[in-house]
Amino acid sequence: MTRAGYEHLSVYRHEGRQAECDLSDNTNLFGSAPSALASLAAWSRGDPARYPTPGNEALRDALGTWLGVSPATIVGGCGSNDILDSAMRALGVPGSILAYTAPTFVMTPHFAAANSLKPVPVATRPDGQPDVEGLLATGAPLIYVATPNNPSGAAASVGRVRLLVDRAPGVVILDEAYTEYLGTSWAEEAAKRDNLLVTRTFSKAWGLAGLRIGYGVGSAALVREVEKGRGPFKVNAVAEQAAAAAVRDDQVWLDDVVGKTRTIRRDTVRRLRALEWPVADSDANFIAVTVSNAAAAAAAFLAGRGIAVRAITGALVVGDVLRITIGPEPMMDRLVAAMTDLPR
Ligand code: PMP
Repeated sequence: MTRAGYEHLSVYRHEGRQAECDLSDNTNLFGSAPSALASLAAWSRGDPARYPTPGNEALRDALGTWLGVSPATIVGGCGSNDILDSAMRALGVPGSILAYTAPTFVMTPHFAAANSLKPVPVATRPDGQPDVEGLLATGAPLIYVATPNNPSGAAASVGRVRLLVDRAPGVVILDEAYTEYLGTSWAEEAAKRDNLLVTRTFSKAWGLAGLRIGYGVGSAALVREVEKGRGPFKVNAVAEQAAAAAVRDDQVWLDDVVGKTRTIRRDTVRRLRALEWPVADSDANFIAVTVSNAAAAAAAFLAGRGIAVRAITGALVVGDVLRITIGPEPMMDRLVAAMTDLPR
């Protein structure tokens, strides 16, 4: 017995972890926020027999201070995946359209379909910017844009996001999973408006993907709707304590990670372009390299060198690309050496 529509969905799987040099999942290859690690080590004094708080107050207080917004405008979740899924369930009327920039994060159309919405892709412009007019023309009551986007790494311009949010007939979901690498956020704006939900995560720059913790920021009324869709206890007590410690105490560490990532990204892009690989400009901790009609074969070649990357095949606008996470220099040296030998 399956639910109608689910026959088109597939189970998420991903093999990168077996590789010696795993550049496939855009996690922080420089490590994890140190105060979060200290909090995890101290957790043995916690009480796992009890539920976490249903309202995630410790997380929301710490994030509210860090972001400069009221804790009432924040909702926590089991990764930002959970916020996206919950938002679509809470805000999307079954059968209605969710318009999204394409290509983008693979789970976006998945969660839309899983929540009985109709995902409608709108191709990004060739310069990597969202096609705001195209998104609005769908009339969709829910619109999703990732900035920086995955897989290109390109951030949407302030003017385009503002135009979209000002004109959208319903709610805009702005996925900022990688925005620490860009250094700006729409979170403060989202807290003040009634039609903007920003989703963010501890999985990327904070280096805490394994803890599964993310959050949304929007008006108090909007995030309470998302919380209804989410249900209680999605943020576990261990993750909440660790993430709160990170935002309270690890800003210097975060700035250092972001600085290193940007420097190494710039250098890696320069080296790959010198080899005449087309690389899109990126504002995130990954880059997209165009390989003409051969992403799967190229990824298999790199796998033979012990390197895992994400192969994206036949995507709108960009075609075949390898999405490659930026990591410490030795990993990038290994990547560039393999890309030097990669058949074109
Ligand atoms: N949004 C984007 C654009 C992503 O790339 C990812 C992870 N790959 C996520 C959201 C979800 O991350 P998480 O659930 O770990 O917060």
